[in-house]
Amino acid sequence: MAEAIIPNLPTNLEGPRARWKYLDNILGRRGPFTDVDWVPGAAIIESLERAKLLVIGAGGLGCEILKNLALSGFKDIHVIDMDTIDVSNLNRQFLFRHADVGKYKAEVAAKFVEKRVKGVKITPYCGKIQDKDEEYYKQFAMIVCGLDSIEARRWINATLVGMVDENDEDSLKPLIDGGTEGFKGQARVILPTMTSCIECQLDMHAPRAAVPLCTLATIPRQPQHCIEWAHIIAWDEERKEITLDTDDPEHITWLFQKALKRAQEFNIPGVTYSMTQGVVKNIIPAIASTNAIVAASCCNEAFKIATSTNPFLGVPETDNYMMYTGDESVYTYTFQHMKKSDCPVCGEDNLSRPLQVDPNSTLQEFLDGLAERPEAQLKKPSIRSEQKSLYYQSPASLEEQTRPNLTKKLNELLENGEEVVISDPAFPTQFRYQLTFKG
Ligand SMILES: [Zn+2]
Repeated sequence: MAEAIIPNLPTNLEGPRARWKYLDNILGRRGPFTDVDWVPGAAIIESLERAKLLVIGAGGLGCEILKNLALSGFKDIHVIDMDTIDVSNLNRQFLFRHADVGKYKAEVAAKFVEKRVKGVKITPYCGKIQDKDEEYYKQFAMIVCGLDSIEARRWINATLVGMVDENDEDSLKPLIDGGTEGFKGQARVILPTMTSCIECQLDMHAPRAAVPLCTLATIPRQPQHCIEWAHIIAWDEERKEITLDTDDPEHITWLFQKALKRAQEFNIPGVTYSMTQGVVKNIIPAIASTNAIVAASCCNEAFKIATSTNPFLGVPETDNYMMYTGDESVYTYTFQHMKKSDCPVCGEDNLSRPLQVDPNSTLQEFLDGLAERPEAQLKKPSIRSEQKSLYYQSPASLEEQTRPNLTKKLNELLENGEEVVISDPAFPTQFRYQLTFKG
């Protein structure tokens, strides 16, 4: 029935390798997807054990990823996370206990997995990914991300694309990225410069559509509208002198009561304290099982890439993106997201993107709009034209010098069709737009 067990494979499955029995079935014999020159057995197991992996994030996804990688045969895993454990993490971040509250996630997660899976080495770093340089990222075979921040994803993506050296095969580090939001999630694989990158795919994660201020002010329709009204309008009108602290229960209670009163006036049910907290703090609901699904998918891709046992996501010209939709029944779809030739990070031609603007809008309005543009999402942009610096966030002296431009109209600052270059301290990338005036 089954193909004979290959020599070189430990056959004593009662001993210390008993845990890896099923893994060894895949690594110890040829399968329908293995290449002709693929050699099963001890060598492939060793190379899996030697592969050095970096996990970014030790939170909801990260806990799952670390556990899965350790149980998939990887033995040299590094993990980066700057956060400490909060009591609200304990319902799903299963590597943490009550006694760990306040300690660093990366450190506690590493110790826990090392204790449970003998022979695995997990090296934690408690800090920001931006603390590390290319030399550090170079040592890894691949990088698995379980992050909730788009900024951090964009930073590591741009860094890995920038590291690729055409003459050095080893400089290309596959990036496996998982993400979840409630019952929805995605797993994707990026081969920097070869396949569509995170920046190419940025419009897949468009910022949540903002509710127009006039809706909030005049005709709220949902409980969230009433909360946003309390948050944006009522607080400013009645408590302007106090800085809103979203961690202060008294402040949340005040907003909640304001929102509740307004909801009653408009006959809108559903405003609660926890919804108020969620809207104001912009909390994305985290569901443990969605994290488990997405993390499992990411780790299977890591295993397949490391061992070549099966086809994986991200091979150029093939599927690279798996989305999981569990909020409307259940649906998964895997497709090839195409690389964008005008991608500011990995595009071949660093051409500027055409953008139509209202010549009468101010520079401030234009910059605010960049935060909402799905392909830009820049929060602290600095901007210069071909001729001059229009606005710089830093240094302070330049900020002061360029600040008066913020209230000027675009047609006072720019020619129709002029190119602008925009940068943001969060990214090692520049964004180019060619601005044409509407009308
Ligand atoms: Zn790209």
